[in-house]
Amino acid sequence: MDTIVSPWPLDNSYARLPDRFYARLPPTPVATPRLVKLNLALARQLGLDPEALASPEGVAMLAGNHLPEGADPIATAYAGHQFGNFVPQLGDGRALLLGEVIDTTGVRRDIQLKGAGQTPFSRRGDGRAALGPVLREYLISEAMHALGVPTTRSLAAVTTGEPVYRETVLPGAVLTRVASSHIRVGTFQFFAARGDVEGVKLLADHVIARHYPDATGYRDLYEKVIARQAALVAQWLCIGFIHGVMNTDNVSIAGETIDYGPCAFMDTYHPETVFSSIDQYGRYAYAKQPQIGGWNMARLGEALMSLFAADADEALKLANESLATWNVQFGRALIAGLRRKLGLFTEQDSDGELAQTFFNVLADNGIDFTQAFRRLGEGTARGLFEEPTAFDAWEQRWRQRIAQEPQDGATRREAMRLANPIYIPRNHKVEAALGAATERDDYGPFEELLTVLAKPFEERAEFAAYALPPSEEEQRNFRTFCGT
Ligand code: AMP
Ligand code: MG
Repeated sequence: MDTIVSPWPLDNSYARLPDRFYARLPPTPVATPRLVKLNLALARQLGLDPEALASPEGVAMLAGNHLPEGADPIATAYAGHQFGNFVPQLGDGRALLLGEVIDTTGVRRDIQLKGAGQTPFSRRGDGRAALGPVLREYLISEAMHALGVPTTRSLAAVTTGEPVYRETVLPGAVLTRVASSHIRVGTFQFFAARGDVEGVKLLADHVIARHYPDATGYRDLYEKVIARQAALVAQWLCIGFIHGVMNTDNVSIAGETIDYGPCAFMDTYHPETVFSSIDQYGRYAYAKQPQIGGWNMARLGEALMSLFAADADEALKLANESLATWNVQFGRALIAGLRRKLGLFTEQDSDGELAQTFFNVLADNGIDFTQAFRRLGEGTARGLFEEPTAFDAWEQRWRQRIAQEPQDGATRREAMRLANPIYIPRNHKVEAALGAATERDDYGPFEELLTVLAKPFEERAEFAAYALPPSEEEQRNFRTFCGT
């Protein structure tokens, strides 16, 4: 494969770790690369030249047909608990890390091609991605970013001109994914499961240098990862996001949302909402996410434990002490987020109960989650209820509560506007955009949806339809691109 000069100088700190951390191999070229989406703002933030990326040479790189200067492509090794069952070897089965760039703010970020061909970790998979799921990840990750949630980003989507075979024949595509790193809980598990204590230590040192330079030791690292993950899951709950596949191989050590497979945003609020058809038992339902997040952190503790103390019993005791910080951190992050959503500036012990009662009222009455909070701030939430008795009683309590704060109404309305999005990637809009792109090669709806979601807190009259939950017919037509 040719290496061509590009304005894309890559470094490879992960590839300088020992050979057992990855498999080194180039992407598998594709037939006819065509750029369908380039993230201009992100390209600039990364210090990359958008024009060069959009040129034929650039598109060839984004497809894996040419390697940018300095690339040292690798498929990283990792393990993971999938739906509770441990799999000692997963690894990048269809993604290749090309290398890292230092962005314009000095942060090192991975450039990964997802759908770049088979690797030694592909098992029975084809190493490829279909266009629908690629565009879905692009949309939802960029929406999450605009909502202020830590996430991997999407730099580009390229079609390959090759079919991929799923339940039907679909157009193939490659997503260029950008992340603070692609190191997962499962990466630590990979080494721990092999008794490779040195591997665990090398990885921990790499993670401290890259993501947690303030960490004072390995236990402190563990607690800092817990704190970031707790804050992340709390943010998900505050926007009605359901990740859908919170396996330990899909949990980023840097605390970013990663792996947008069967994820979705709730329309009607219900705590047991599940979207993923592969999540038969509701393990990853909306309201289960805090508990599962803690479970995943327990698995990380097991993987790191050998670094905490030489004596196994002592190490376990220390791991458990650190794990206990999950509940504290999560509780703190969630109540802070809920206070923001309810327009509360001060703290009272009963605030958690006040919020919980609101959630119950929404669930009992089948109310749209996003609209309920947005309209609460605007003073029009009552109109969402056919039978507003329970809401009225709750609203009276809430009004008494906010009357005890010094902030005036305008200040509160503005704060609530910034805490409660009007636009989220609603499933029926996402599916309509993907359908137009994949079936009719019409990227208009996809582009418009991206435009709407780039400013989720800013109401714009021309996009009123995007703020609405699906009609009954739209709800019926909804199917996910859950198969990846
Ligand atoms: P995921 O469910 O996307 O988190 O993926 C779980 C594992 O399956 C990871 O090791 C992926 O790399 C691998 N995988 C998923 N899809 C494919 C595919 N089409 N070809 C090869 N490996 C895949
Ligand atoms: Mg994954």
